[in-house]
Amino acid sequence: MQPIRTFNVSPSLPSRLESLRPLAYNLHWDWNAESKDLFRRLDPDLWEVSHHNPVYMLGNISQVRLQEVVEDEGFLAQMDRAARQLEDYLQERSWYDKHRAQETANKTDKYSQECFAYFSAEFGLVDCLPIYSGGLGVLAGDHLKSASDLGLPLVGVGLLYQQGYFAQYLNADGWQQERYLSNDFYNMPLHLERNADGSELRIEVDYPGRTVYARVWRVQVGTVPLYLMDTNIEPNNPYDHDITDQLYGGDIDMRIHQEIMLGVGGVRMLKALGLRVTAYHMNEGHAAFSGLERTRMLMQEEGLKYEQASQLVASSNIFTTHTPVPAGIDLFAPDKTLYYLGRYAEVFGLSKDQFLGLGRENTGDLTSPFSMAVLALKTSTFANGVAQLHGVVSRGMFKALWQNLPVQEVPITAITNGVHARSCVASATQTLYDRYLGPNWSSAPVNSPLWERINTIPDEELWRNHERCRLDMVVFVREHLVNHLRDRGASAAEITQAQEVLDPSVLTIGFARRFATYKRATLWMRDLERCKRILAGNKDRRVQFVISGKAHPKDIPGKELIREINHFIREQGLSKQVVFVPNYDIHVARLLVAGCDIWLNTPRRPREASGTSGMKASMNGLPNLSVLDGWWDEADYVRTGWAIGHGENYEDPMYQDEIEANALYDLIEQDVVPLFYNRDSDSLPRPWIAKMKDAIRLNCPFFNTERMVSEYAMRAYFPASDRYHSLSVDHYAPAHELAKWKANLSDHWYNIKIASIDISDTADVKVDQTITVKAKIDLATLTPNDIQVQLYQGAIDANGEIVDGIPVVMACQEQDSNGSSVYTAELVYTHSGLQGLSLRVLPQHEYLSSPYEPRLILWAS
Ligand SMILES: *Cc1c(COP(=O)(O)O)cnc(C)c1O
Repeated sequence: MQPIRTFNVSPSLPSRLESLRPLAYNLHWDWNAESKDLFRRLDPDLWEVSHHNPVYMLGNISQVRLQEVVEDEGFLAQMDRAARQLEDYLQERSWYDKHRAQETANKTDKYSQECFAYFSAEFGLVDCLPIYSGGLGVLAGDHLKSASDLGLPLVGVGLLYQQGYFAQYLNADGWQQERYLSNDFYNMPLHLERNADGSELRIEVDYPGRTVYARVWRVQVGTVPLYLMDTNIEPNNPYDHDITDQLYGGDIDMRIHQEIMLGVGGVRMLKALGLRVTAYHMNEGHAAFSGLERTRMLMQEEGLKYEQASQLVASSNIFTTHTPVPAGIDLFAPDKTLYYLGRYAEVFGLSKDQFLGLGRENTGDLTSPFSMAVLALKTSTFANGVAQLHGVVSRGMFKALWQNLPVQEVPITAITNGVHARSCVASATQTLYDRYLGPNWSSAPVNSPLWERINTIPDEELWRNHERCRLDMVVFVREHLVNHLRDRGASAAEITQAQEVLDPSVLTIGFARRFATYKRATLWMRDLERCKRILAGNKDRRVQFVISGKAHPKDIPGKELIREINHFIREQGLSKQVVFVPNYDIHVARLLVAGCDIWLNTPRRPREASGTSGMKASMNGLPNLSVLDGWWDEADYVRTGWAIGHGENYEDPMYQDEIEANALYDLIEQDVVPLFYNRDSDSLPRPWIAKMKDAIRLNCPFFNTERMVSEYAMRAYFPASDRYHSLSVDHYAPAHELAKWKANLSDHWYNIKIASIDISDTADVKVDQTITVKAKIDLATLTPNDIQVQLYQGAIDANGEIVDGIPVVMACQEQDSNGSSVYTAELVYTHSGLQGLSLRVLPQHEYLSSPYEPRLILWAS
């Protein structure tokens, strides 16, 4: 039955409890112990039933209970404390003020007008907002939390999925089933954005043959608003209602519809909200259409030409890639791309192939599909991978976009991921750190002496705390399993069995993440006999495994891994010792990374771009046991855990599995188990505790989003925002100048000639001897201001190529009347051996983000 009217009924609270409302609607409660505890205290059962959703609680709590707490002095005092903490938190913008506003205070007030927009297809913030699928989403959520902690003027942009990502349950055969639960937005921490007259704020996005409407919801993440678009409204047609139905659901056409809403709709939404954004950050390529829409708006609304508009867009765009394999990138067929987005080609004045070229590595390859990652790279001037190794992989993957540039110079840098400390460390453990390190540990920089104070935590205290976390985890897993089995209608015997799984005193190995096949969730059970021997333990040194994770609904091999594990458990009679915890989510993750003893990761290197669950485990004091991939490759893996293998890449996956499974068994048997069970007379595993302290001390300071977001701010957001401001003054005159300069540059680039190169002494150079190089360059119609000349020196490899060359800028001495310029430089060789020298010409201009931006380079031949 359709209603004739709808009402949004908001919770009614006794006036003394009004402060609960702002606390409930700001996700700050998730990383503020006082507020979180307050809601738990308000109604512990409802807290669990609601999936930790304070807004739902306020709407559904009994009036009797509310009357009780109005009389409860202790509760009121805690509520007032929490409310004050939130107010204080919202006032403070210390890091941003210190690193940006103050230092530039005497320049102009332009910094008060900056705003950074962060686009992501998923955000994993809290349990009760299931609009994420895995690590990418949790990273985005942590990014917003840290941006708030740092006081950055940042806003998030995403989609509000009606059903979100699925809830997982297993059938009796251990096969993953998906259940989609409809999100009830009115009982979630969401604000509907409205116009001044109180009507719903709506945006309109063009799709072939129709307009699609979306309304806008805001999630308040501390000081950072996250704006989410929702198309499940009239008068959209039924198909369009579903654009924001499921995260990563539907077919390729639905995927394009979603990405248009995220990118194009996102840009329109920011405008409708009245935000003047000065730097745009695309978290993965899903939002790359945003660049097209920004370009169109600058052309049609501000009167810029295509070259000017696209220059301004690129200068203020930032792209983070997360995909180390070509198969993981969104590719759309050329005709589909034109069908959905061809109107941009018309607006831009580009031919179809020129337009498709924006998404092609090789613009001349007219059959190649349209790649969102290539589009994102071509429409940005700052790009990065998410760990140092991933930076290397990404530079190799996309090097074709910068022809003739040595791969190590490809301008895709790396900013290593992190995790939000106050969200992922167990609350008891946070209290311990607060006591021994002081309350500012979660934002202390890498070089702070505070981290050494980890060693002042008494072994006994750290260990008892950890054992408590392990017990909490075991209790949780049992309850969670029992509930799951009851829902499935399992037998009484099965339920009884579930009540007894795991042993809270046994060494517990945790493995939990998405079940993508490259993560090899079953590697540890590859050799059945060895695996059983380890589980059984020698002299009471038993081992148990806790495993959790979802496979994408269409990933049949991923689902087979889940079934394989469940069959293994049943067939080997190991249900007490090996547990698969269904429905992995943020809540399950937090319990596991705190309560296991060691965190296992076995990806096929180098396919794990970064990985973050191991960082969460580390912050809780767990050593990692992992293949050297992603973040672990750059961590201190000797002191803070164990490395499986030595960072080899393999051709033959079967052989790799064999070698790495054996290495894993060896480490468990020879290192992990003995160290864990080596107890002293106080029954403490002292050397193990020392490793736990190293894990915290050495990983906490670096692998956190406070450090990560400040790196994005300093290296990407501030420079991009500065470029945006510099290029848009005087009604975009500098953007116009730069675009014109670039057009002239590419017209005349190939007329540049390296006329001669003179090197003082070449035959017999000694270490530390100075040699002088003089080059004559014919610049044709270009000027010395347009270019820089560099020597490029380095050792020669077996193929006769210069490897890891170092550029040395040459000084321009004179320019004669017919366009020739003389450049000189002095060189000193500090190493003996066969050394190579070359010379190259690169563009230069004060408004360029780097000399690589125009993708032009001329080498001496
Ligand atoms: C941290 C986290 C992840 C990411 O785990 P990886 O080890 O990086 O794959 C995935 N899902 C949830 C719920 C998480 O909390």
